[in-house]
Amino acid sequence: MYSLMANCCNWLKRWRAPVRKVTLIMVGLDNAGKTATVKGIQGECPEDVAPTVGFSKIDLKQGRFEVTIFDLGGGKRIRGIWKNYYAESYGVIFVVDSSDVERMEETKEIMSEVLRHPKISGKPVLVLANKQDKEGALAEADVIECLSLEKLVNEHKCLCQIEPCSAIMGYGKKIDKSIKKGLLWLLHIIAKDFDALHERIQKDTTEQKAAEEQEKRERAERVRKIREERERKEREEAEREGRSISDEADSDLVTGNPFQPISTVITENEKKIEKEKKRQREENEKDAIALKHKPDQENMDTQSLNSQQSSDCRLLESYKSELTERLEHEDENDRPVSESRDSGDNAALNSGVENSKKKAKKLKLKRSHRVEPVTTEDGISPNPTPVAPLAPVGWETPKVNRIRKLEPLGETHRNDFYGKPLPPLTIRQRPNSDTHDVIS
Ligand code: GDP
Repeated sequence: MYSLMANCCNWLKRWRAPVRKVTLIMVGLDNAGKTATVKGIQGECPEDVAPTVGFSKIDLKQGRFEVTIFDLGGGKRIRGIWKNYYAESYGVIFVVDSSDVERMEETKEIMSEVLRHPKISGKPVLVLANKQDKEGALAEADVIECLSLEKLVNEHKCLCQIEPCSAIMGYGKKIDKSIKKGLLWLLHIIAKDFDALHERIQKDTTEQKAAEEQEKRERAERVRKIREERERKEREEAEREGRSISDEADSDLVTGNPFQPISTVITENEKKIEKEKKRQREENEKDAIALKHKPDQENMDTQSLNSQQSSDCRLLESYKSELTERLEHEDENDRPVSESRDSGDNAALNSGVENSKKKAKKLKLKRSHRVEPVTTEDGISPNPTPVAPLAPVGWETPKVNRIRKLEPLGETHRNDFYGKPLPPLTIRQRPNSDTHDVIS
């Protein structure tokens, strides 16, 4: 009667006990059988497992425990992420491929690394000596020896249990009993010391979060510095090249999530292009208005922009004035003498004309290298004495046409060596072509 009442009390106690959330990590070398074990616990066939890339997670309910198991990938490159899960872990399941004797040393090193970690030391460890169904698999005692397990767990004050098992023997309710036994042992140890463990986990996770936040801030600071440095260099480069960096360029930097749907990226790009076009239109309009209202100022600005240009302009101006002067004198020279007399200073005028003619000759010699118009648009040959100041090509140059090809006016007559007339040659132009056929 007394034992019945004690059992009832125990049952009531358990029933009233709060649900405990427990996180476990499952680690071990790649190919040890971690995923197969996890699948078997979950009730899925452990034979069709794909290698774990990164990690997988399962949730299960065991008595008053809500258990989350993180199956962490065991590849050399992935092992680095294990430590991110240590703080929140209440216990460790370490899976060993008992049949892979060659990798026992590597397994030992990895296990030592895990148990040595300050966020793991002192926590319970379940070692699953897996693949016992395979021929040549090491027995429990051999695994303990190969891994120097006793020494390791004592050193790091970890309560430990080793279970020889086979993950592919069954799954769900038919799972290898050793796996189930090992899992129950682990949860039992955790339950026994739950409050202390829970407190430690709370503290460790808070610390880890703070450290992660700090690392994030430091990373953001590093990125900001790199960005500023890059922007500074770009600005300096732009200043050297005389370009202007619009503020919009800053917005091009990826500040948010770089992984966005392609449709969003396309829409954003289209908006940017539209914005840029609008900005350019506005700038053009502004320029047009400024040109309309301040032509003199603009001309001055343009001249001051390029000293080379302005010196060219000065040269042209002097050239123009000299030519105009010369032409004026020539006009005066062409006038009737009576007109000239009217001016009352013939001698001075004549000497001026002489001088201007000399100057014009000099100028003509100087300018002989310039390309001059051959014929104007209306077909009139240019006057040998230019009536207007000659400008360099590309600056107020009248539009010119090339001289037309000379074409025969009619039949061509020719004589032989003794002067006897030869039959005339007929020259015919090919249709739609400039070439001519000569028919004798
Ligand atoms: P993980 O890399 O540690 O996750 O290893 P997996 O669970 O992916 O298993 C690797 C390979 O070992 C797979 O082909 C499994 O089918 C096989 N395997 C896992 N456990 C056992 C076992 O107990 N016995 C045998 N013979 N093969 C197993």
